Amino acid sequence: MIQDIHPVHYNNHYEPLTPGASDHIICFHDNKFYVHYSEKDQKLVFPKWGEFLGGSESVYLFSLGEDKFFLIMDAQTLPDGYEWYNTQELRSMKKQGNLDIFIIYTAWHLAKWYQSSRFCGTCGEKTEFDKTERAMVCPKCGNKIYPRINPAVIVGVTNGDRLLLTKYNRTYAYNALIAGFTEIGETMEETVQREVMEEAGLKVKNIRYYKSQPWGIAADILMGFYCDVDGDDTIHRDNTELKYAEWVERQDIELQPDSLSLTNEMMMMFKENRL
Ligand SMILES: [Zn+2]
Repeated sequence: MIQDIHPVHYNNHYEPLTPGASDHIICFHDNKFYVHYSEKDQKLVFPKWGEFLGGSESVYLFSLGEDKFFLIMDAQTLPDGYEWYNTQELRSMKKQGNLDIFIIYTAWHLAKWYQSSRFCGTCGEKTEFDKTERAMVCPKCGNKIYPRINPAVIVGVTNGDRLLLTKYNRTYAYNALIAGFTEIGETMEETVQREVMEEAGLKVKNIRYYKSQPWGIAADILMGFYCDVDGDDTIHRDNTELKYAEWVERQDIELQPDSLSLTNEMMMMFKENRL
């Protein structure tokens, strides 16, 4: 999955650091990243702070092993040798391991949060970087804005040797599972029950937790659950959300083209009867 980047260690402890010449720069603008894709090494190369001519404000994001990453949102000048790519283009590039796409998705989550936290939602004043923790603070009313992470569920609904597969009306073309955001005031288990009922018209039982996954591109923390259909297994598909929802036998399950997502791992575990 995207977070499986062993042996590299991800360190997200916030410190108000300033970049050194060889630190990596995540340059983000108009939902695109400014990077170079090395075909030879099949990996992304990020610009270094020393290549920027100055005038740009940066903020420390995270470290991966010894490598530190900083964000620049509005670069005044750009070094040569890099191009702008959107996340779909970056995901479809052939890359070694998950590290590059983990960097991109995590940086996206942070960059979008910084972008939407520039003003105080309470009084409208321009916010500032907090000095000690990952937060934006309002100098006028003291309001503190922390990074926003949306809890959501992925649900593998089983029916004997069959799994409920879906395809969403939105962009992604491959097989998926039932998924949805947690609403205010409900437990994760209630989210599972509600989403399966809303999207497929099914009751479920034996809800059991599997694993979680950060999915920065949607600002999510995804929690995967399996459960069994309870009673009538007739699917009533929500056409506004889904273009496909069917019971599929283990051996007929078609997996996604890459192994980044928790959804894909959950489909694979069921397909290979490893649960
Ligand atoms: Zn304020």
